[in-house]
This record gives sequence, C-alpha cells and structure tokens, in this order.
Amino acid sequence: MGKLIVKKFGGTSVANTERIEVVADNIQLEIEKGNQVAVVLSAMGKSTDELISLAREINPEPNLREYDALVSTGEQISVALLAMALLKRGINGKSYTAYQLGIKTNSSHSRARILDVEVSKINNEIQEGTVPVITGFQGMNENGDITTLGRGGSDTTGVALAVALEADECQIYTDVDGVFTTDPRVYDKARLLKEVSFEEMLELSSSGAKVLQLRSVEYASKFNLPIRVLSSFNDGEGTLVQEEKNIMERPIVSGISSIDSEAKLTIRGVPDVPGVAAKILGPISDAGIEVDVIVQNISAENNTDFTFTVDKSDAVQAENILKHTSDSLGGGSVEVDDDIAKISIVGRGMRAHAGVASKMFEALAASEINILMITTSEIKISVVIKKSEMKNAVKSLHDAFDLDKELDS
Ligand code: ASP
Ligand code: MG
Repeated sequence: MGKLIVKKFGGTSVANTERIEVVADNIQLEIEKGNQVAVVLSAMGKSTDELISLAREINPEPNLREYDALVSTGEQISVALLAMALLKRGINGKSYTAYQLGIKTNSSHSRARILDVEVSKINNEIQEGTVPVITGFQGMNENGDITTLGRGGSDTTGVALAVALEADECQIYTDVDGVFTTDPRVYDKARLLKEVSFEEMLELSSSGAKVLQLRSVEYASKFNLPIRVLSSFNDGEGTLVQEEKNIMERPIVSGISSIDSEAKLTIRGVPDVPGVAAKILGPISDAGIEVDVIVQNISAENNTDFTFTVDKSDAVQAENILKHTSDSLGGGSVEVDDDIAKISIVGRGMRAHAGVASKMFEALAASEINILMITTSEIKISVVIKKSEMKNAVKSLHDAFDLDKELDS
C-alpha cells in the first residue's frame, strides 16, 4: 500500500502556468510511485496582496466579511488551473473550495480558526484515484459566510487537511529549500536544518521566521503531525518539523530569527505601585493590540519607566492610548521608537545548558552592539537592538554559536 500525502504549494510555487505545470509533474511523479495525494494551494504569486490593495482603494478599513469574500478568490483560480493541468496528464484532478468541502471555522473574519474539516467525501474520491485540489487560506463560518485564516493561512489548511485525512505525510512546498539556521538573505552562512522540533519552530515562527504560518505549527504540534518543508524549485530533503527527540545530543542554539517590524513605546515616570502594569497594558489589549517584549525598570523615587514593543502598524494607536493612560496616572512623557530590531536565539538544547545568555551578550558586546531590551523563555532569548545593527548582530551570534557547522549526531 502506498502512502497518503498532503502536499501544500505556496504562492511562488503556483505563480504562473509554467509553475503550475511543474506542480502537476510533481503530483504525477508521486502517483507513479504508488502514493495517494491531496493538494492544498495558495493564490498565484502576489495575487492576495493585489486583492487586499483593491479592497483598500475602496476603504482603508474594509468590512471584514466582504474582505474575506474578496481575498479568498485568489485560491479559487489556482486550484482550478492545477486541476486542469492534472486532467491534461490523465490524472483525475478535482478542485474544491473550502465551502464545497466543508472547512468550518469560527467567525473571526480575516483571522479565523479552523474548527473542523469534512473529509468523508474526498476520502472516498481519493480511494477511487481522484486528486482533490483544495483552496488554502479559506473556510466558512456557521452562517455559511466565507472566512480567511490570516496571511500565510494555506499552511494551516494543509496541516488541518492532513490531520483530518490521517495522512502519512504533510509536505509544504515553498520557494526556499527548507528551514535555515537564520534567514540566508541576512547571512549567507545560514545552513539548512535537516530537522527542527515543533517547539523550536513555534519560537522561530513567532519571532519572525516566515517559512511556516505560526498557527500551522501550533496545529501540527497539537496533533503531532510531522511537516516536511520543501522547495518546489530545487530537489532536496528539506526540513522535517517534528516532535522533540534526543535532547542531550542537540545543539544549544538551533536557529536565529530577526525582525524589524516592531516599534518600542515607553511611558516615563509612572508611579511604582501595584496594578500599574495592568493599567498601562489593559487599554492596549482592549484595543486588540498585541504586546511583545515588556520591560519595567526598577524605580527611582517611587517612579518607574515602562517599555514594551508592538507591531509597527499598531504603534500610532498604542501611542495615543498611552498618552491618555499617562494623563490619568499622572505619568510623564510617552516615547515611540520604531528604529529597532529584535533578534532571537532559539534552541531546545538551552534547557540543559547554562551560560547561553552570557555567551549571547558577550558576542553582541564584542561587536559593540548595545542591547535595549531583553526577554527570555525556556528555549529562547530575545534582545531588542537598533535596527541598523540587525545584520551585524545576526552574523555575530551565528558565528558565536557555530551555527554554520553541523553537529555530529
Ligand atoms: N494567499 C494567502 C496569502 O498570501 C494565503 C497563503 O498564501 O498561505 O497570505
Ligand atoms: Mg506561505
């Protein structure tokens, strides 16, 4: 008996009809090996971006039900084209929208969560040799309205489908060879990782690595479904994202991520009394703004400074909220700095090793990089620095932790 494989292809992998033919060849090869295949696709190339800018031409903050109705159309084009390319090869490709299939989500338009995937129908079809080609990124809520899963959401569709079908493998095809020790565009010594744990991938995705949508990793981890990240442009084994194994043999640091999409806000001179952090961050979270790194300084004369980061797109709104808060608390000035970057080192080997933080800080010091904020979790240390020092910091840390060298295992 062959395997059942769910293959998800991203936007660059289906950017034009030539690429779609390449995808069809890939599927044909898999079938010739005796395997069964179900496919999930993203929209062609940058078409989702184009749809979003069309919406914004009408209204910078469009109604979200209609936004979803619009941006979900990109995936309908790619699935129909691939089904045609499969049929041309004598393979019974058949396109499905999320609505036709029954991918049920909650009603959070533009960032919905998958609740259930109806697979009984395609399960039978797969047994009869059909290759279902399913729109990624979209779902439907209980009213039958179209929803979308947030940018990059096709990854999550792929994983959810693989879980529902109890597939043997979930392969996510993209335009890079897999998951790297750091972004190869930031440092050319970046090395392809053969394997990375769910936990590490979650930390890397949440701190800036863009290979997989964070939610897809959460979903795969929850159901313990291994994901293989592969290139549809080059041959190779890619990166296997799976449950943690053999912790003692692991490198201390597995990867480094970097982002420059956050802004830092500081509120000065707030009274250092119980409840102040809640008073500052409460209104921010009530506005739906996600806070990342938080630092409260030790107080001088019973006053303290409080600093945190948010996504740049939320900075203006957060600043306005903070000004109100400062007035009502009798605090001082509010400062915004969006000239920052956040660098994170991630590795499950950190649990078993001391001195990782000091090694990180020494490497940054040797490169004369000033640290503005620090935050840690069990397997991650992040620092906020000046944006102009981002590349330099990544290089220093990559070298300091010897990430270009593979450990013998
Ligand atoms: N087409 C959607 C996007 O560009 C979903 C995806 O590609 O995963 O975000
Ligand atoms: Mg993607």
